[in-house]
Amino acid sequence: MTLQTAVVGHPISHSLSPLLHNAIYKHEGVDADMHAYDEEDIAAFTEKMRALPIHLAAVTLPHKQSVMQYVDEIDARASDIGAVNTLLNTDGVLRGYNTDIVGIEAALKGVQVSGKDVLLLGAGGAAYPVAYYLKFKGAHVFYHNRTKEKAEEMRSRFGGVVEDDLSSISPGRFSLIVNATSVGLKLSDPLPIREELITKDTTVLDLIYTETPLLKHTSAKGARAISGLSMFVAQGLEQERLWLDREIRDYGYTALLQDALQKQSI
Ligand code: NAP
Repeated sequence: MTLQTAVVGHPISHSLSPLLHNAIYKHEGVDADMHAYDEEDIAAFTEKMRALPIHLAAVTLPHKQSVMQYVDEIDARASDIGAVNTLLNTDGVLRGYNTDIVGIEAALKGVQVSGKDVLLLGAGGAAYPVAYYLKFKGAHVFYHNRTKEKAEEMRSRFGGVVEDDLSSISPGRFSLIVNATSVGLKLSDPLPIREELITKDTTVLDLIYTETPLLKHTSAKGARAISGLSMFVAQGLEQERLWLDREIRDYGYTALLQDALQKQSI
């Protein structure tokens, strides 16, 4: 019998998860199928997950924090981060994990952050594992968010500084800038920061999967630009590693998703 897995969120129509996970099942010879569940009520989804059963669920916007109260166990790291993006179902017992942190680690491989000043833009669900990673690696984190109170919440959880006014910051001050806002999802969006903040020595990670105006601008300056696609693929491989209990490599999945994203934008 084909085993069921899920990606759950609201809205969910543009999720790349079924494409990624179903390609993994095909390559790994696993008889499983991932469906997208557009659910507003995450409590009801967790009941459905136990009943059907759904063996693995990738949890996305807006449920990464609220789902935590409906699971039976939470992995220690997910608990420290304050967000769950993965549910595993073992005979009706749901356990929550956070694999976004593995995705961030992969995206920032080779980028020196220890002792560096890092600017983190955004304070939504995606920013939490970034802040956790940066703290763990010993970076000096500066938080900036449209709603200042949410940046303050992050500072009280992970330490660092809230930088409310970026207008007086000098160019090149931050060696790494991470965009965890949704500014850049549309090609017509403005840059989320003043362009002078990026110099040729700045590394920019944009959590958005596509080539955003911020990434284009970074590349044009000769600086290192990293898209969120590498993070997305790595966190998805980690979800399957947890479920299937075997190492899962990227057998052309990044290229497959790049191709799908290009078709979506046409
Ligand atoms: P979220 O919880 O909705 O947070 C959105 C963030 O963007 C908030 O900080 C929000 O500020 C800010 N924002 C939205 N519109 C803005 C605007 N016009 N000007 C300034 N700030 C604005 O979303 P999320 O889950 O954190 O996701 C954020 C981004 O990361 C999304 O683009 C998502 O696609 C991407 N993401 C990527 C991955 C990956 O694997 N690569 C994983 C997760 C998310 P306020 O607090 O003021 O509302």
